[in-house]
Amino acid sequence: MSCTTRPELPPQLHVFVRDWLSANHVVLRSDAGSVVIDSGYDKHVPLMLALIASRTGLDGRPLAKLVNTHCHSDHIGGNAALRRAYGCPIAVPAGEAPLIDAWDERTLLYDYADQRAERFAVDEILMPGRTYVWGDLEWRALAAPGHAMGALVFFNDAHRILISGDALWQNGYGIVMPPEVDPAALPATRATLEMIASLDARCVIPGHGEPFMDVRGALERAFARTSAFEADPLRTVRHVLKALLVFSLLDRERMLLAALPDYMARVGVYRDFNARFFSLAPSALAEKLVGELERAGAVHRDDGWLKPGR
Ligand SMILES: [Zn+2]
Repeated sequence: MSCTTRPELPPQLHVFVRDWLSANHVVLRSDAGSVVIDSGYDKHVPLMLALIASRTGLDGRPLAKLVNTHCHSDHIGGNAALRRAYGCPIAVPAGEAPLIDAWDERTLLYDYADQRAERFAVDEILMPGRTYVWGDLEWRALAAPGHAMGALVFFNDAHRILISGDALWQNGYGIVMPPEVDPAALPATRATLEMIASLDARCVIPGHGEPFMDVRGALERAFARTSAFEADPLRTVRHVLKALLVFSLLDRERMLLAALPDYMARVGVYRDFNARFFSLAPSALAEKLVGELERAGAVHRDDGWLKPGR
C-alpha cells in the first residue's frame, strides 16, 4: 500500500481529518460506550458537534467519554460543548490535568498566545503505562513529552495503530519550547521519537493531517527536524513564533499588517520571546516573522492585510 493511500482502520474507528486550527477527532464506537479523542478548536465547535453526531460519528449512540491527547487549544476547544451536548466525562493526561485545574493560560498557550478556549473541568486522569479499552480495542497510554510535557499517545498492539496527537505528524510535529524556556522539552522530544520508533507502528493517526503508514519516513523527518533544532536553538524560537502567528491568522482569517507591531508588543509570547531572544523593535519582529513565512508560502500580503497561504 502506498503511503498516500488511506490506511485501513478497524470499522469501529473513524477519523475526522480536520485542519491546522482544529485537531483531528478520533471516534471509537462501542456498544459498551463510545469514546471521542480530541475536540478541536473553539471556532469550529458547531462543525465539530455536527461531525461527531453524524452517521460516520456517533450516529445516535451516547458518548461515554471524551479523551484528550494533550490540552492545547486546538485539541480541547470543544470539550465544554461536548460535555454540554452529551453529559460525558472528560479524561485528560495526568501531566496535563494540573494545568487545566489551574487554567494555566501561559503554559497551555491560550491567552498568552492569542488563542481561545472555553474552560472545562477534568473528570478523569489518564495514566501513562495504563491500558484503556476504547471502541472494543485496547490502547496503551504512553508518555510522549516534548511538544506538550504531559502529552500521551495511545497505541493499539493488535492493529499496531498509534494515535500520536502532536508528538508525530507525517511531516514534523507540534512546536517545541526552546531550551532557555524549558530545558527538558527538546531532549524529551527526541526521547519520545525514539519511544515511538520502538513501537513498530503500522499506521499513525496524527493530531493533524491524514492517517499515514510511512511511519519510518515520518520518523526520519522528525529526527532531522530535532537535530536542526538542537543545532540552532534560535531556530526553535522562530519556529514557535511563526507557527503561533499562522495559527492566529487562521483563527482571525486576516490580520491588518499595520496593527502587527502593536500585536507583537501586546501578546505575551511575542513580547516575552522578543525581549529574551531578539531585542527587536516590535515592527522589526513582525517584519522578520512575516518575511520568513511569506518566503515559505505560509502567508501573503494583500492590500494591507496579512492572509494565510500563497
Ligand atoms: Zn498541541
